[in-house]
Amino acid sequence: MPHIEQLSPHVADLIAAGEVVERPASVAKELLENSLDAGASAVTVEIQDGGMTYLRVSDDGCGIAPGELPTAFLRHATSKLRRAEDLAAIGTLGFRGEALAAISSVSRLDVFTRERGALSGAALHLEGGVPGEVAEAGCPEGTSVIVRDLFYNTPARLKFMKRDSAEASAISGIVTHLALSHPGVSFKLIKDGAEALHTPGDGALRSAVYAALGREFTLSLVDVAGRDGDLAADGFVTRPLSGRGTRGMQTFFVNGRLVKSQLLTAALEEAYANRIMKGRFPGCVLCVTLPFALVDVNVHPAKTIVKFAAEKPVFDLVYHAVSDALDREAKPTEASPVPGAGVSRPSAAPDERGERGGFYRTMTAEQFRAAHGGKSAPARASSPAPAQPFRTRVPAVTLGELGGRARVADVVQPAAPASPVAAAPAPEIPHPPAAVSETAPAAEPEQADLLPAVEPAWRIAGEVLNTYIVCEDASNNVWLIDKHAAHERVNFDRFKAQNEPIMSQTLLTPLVAQLSDDEYAAVAPRFDTLRRYGFVCEDFGGGAVLLRAVPADIDETEAVAALEEIAGKLLRGGGADPAGARDALLATLACKAAIKGGWKSDERELRALVDRVQSGEIEYCPHGRPVKVRLTQAELEKMFKRRV
Ligand code: ADP
Ligand code: MG
Repeated sequence: MPHIEQLSPHVADLIAAGEVVERPASVAKELLENSLDAGASAVTVEIQDGGMTYLRVSDDGCGIAPGELPTAFLRHATSKLRRAEDLAAIGTLGFRGEALAAISSVSRLDVFTRERGALSGAALHLEGGVPGEVAEAGCPEGTSVIVRDLFYNTPARLKFMKRDSAEASAISGIVTHLALSHPGVSFKLIKDGAEALHTPGDGALRSAVYAALGREFTLSLVDVAGRDGDLAADGFVTRPLSGRGTRGMQTFFVNGRLVKSQLLTAALEEAYANRIMKGRFPGCVLCVTLPFALVDVNVHPAKTIVKFAAEKPVFDLVYHAVSDALDREAKPTEASPVPGAGVSRPSAAPDERGERGGFYRTMTAEQFRAAHGGKSAPARASSPAPAQPFRTRVPAVTLGELGGRARVADVVQPAAPASPVAAAPAPEIPHPPAAVSETAPAAEPEQADLLPAVEPAWRIAGEVLNTYIVCEDASNNVWLIDKHAAHERVNFDRFKAQNEPIMSQTLLTPLVAQLSDDEYAAVAPRFDTLRRYGFVCEDFGGGAVLLRAVPADIDETEAVAALEEIAGKLLRGGGADPAGARDALLATLACKAAIKGGWKSDERELRALVDRVQSGEIEYCPHGRPVKVRLTQAELEKMFKRRV
């Protein structure tokens, strides 16, 4: 019969260490939380090799008395929780009194600390949890903990570590989130000698957001401030027009802790219900504060899931705070009269018009959904003209070829708003269809002139449904070309032909892709592969992937969707057939890089595509659908009963 024995303290420590210290990012998190608990106003995290060989957290907090230094490394040693009742009112971040004991038991650790106002400081070295002697040390006020050779004595754990780059990005994620939840503290992250992040710590959330999430995101934000008794919701949400393809840029804090909460997400999105395009999601940095007794942040080991004692007041507060912010945001534009009301203005995005529409604004979200048979129709349904996604990078010139007066007025109007004269058709824009050939780019006149002599001329008659290019050839055939399918094929062939990695463009503001657990598991070990396809990814924690760079051919707004699709393909394909897998990934890039049906296209774009299709080079899109359809003159004449 086996004997029953109590575990040795060392083994117990190692078991506890497994819970607290999973990876370098968890070490960084525990140490940073200690620094914040110590009242630091500035903290620096420095890592080498993803934190595996070296991880330092230094703060200017209260410091530790030399006499208490060894005690801090004992299990269940804490200055933060004395009585069981305190558990209900956990205001500090860490509270189990286990972090230092656990971290020191699986590393070689040095701590330097000096209390505020003390003449000198103290240092202590621990090796696998075994402390040396406390020595006097000259060091700045505050505490510096240096963790070297993490898991050197637990090889099994070492085996489970991801690549250093993945660990480094997980640490970035931790620092970013803590910086956002503590705008009054200056955070600095140094990765392998280079500064990766530095927030000013000036107390303004907006400055922290700017430093951590970038300029573009910050510029899209609207202030939110809501109070209801001792509940508060503060922070920022993105303007409805800056919606994103995923929920990746939604960051919620409850009493300073990063949380995932369906309740908060629902309240946020409810406020956008009739203002944002379908399939787009708002971004936010929202901080909810409420009495500690009304919230349980301890239901999940990672403490990212919250339970509210009363859900409705929290939902209502967030919903109203965000709604009010968006209403205020919409006001100034409402006040100025809309020039040329009644005529659609393509440059005003559809949702903006929806917001001004009045009709939907007076409905509640429930009424709205009821009126639309449960579908959450985009607000643009109320706009007077058929809504068309309008892409700013595409010149408006092609509009001239498609419509008569109203359209020409549309194009002119945004540039010269108030004048009724400007709304008249501009005389120099010729009437369709002649416009097509005459608006051909001035830069290539000889080419355009030479073409007919070389081979049967293709005349582009125009574009219909913003999707199909209509052409006629010299043999009196009419062709319909699917511009998206054709462009997709052009891209696919180009990508396939090149041996170099796909070119990438670094983003000013990183994007965040929120993946499902399965997708994340498929993607996370393949960041190197993704880099060859133009995606520079970092692990952002919690299934989120930060995109620092995306394939150069892909519009930023398509990048997250592309990554999601690729994740799906990696998940299903698993790389059994490398060539097939490569084609599948390139097909996604080709599709996302292609002009879309529904987008307005530039004349030159269309001409280039038609030339490729005309040369016979392209017949099918990478999915095998035809890119062109022919109608012969005879077929047309039959349709019109001119022929039998
Ligand atoms: P806990 O944070 O749960 O109390 P830890 O093991 O993380 O447990 O830390 C033990 C104790 O060491 C803390 O309660 C605190 O008194 C002290 N301590 C740890 N880190 C710091 C720091 N950076 N500055 C001041 N005191 C610290
Ligand atoms: Mg702690």
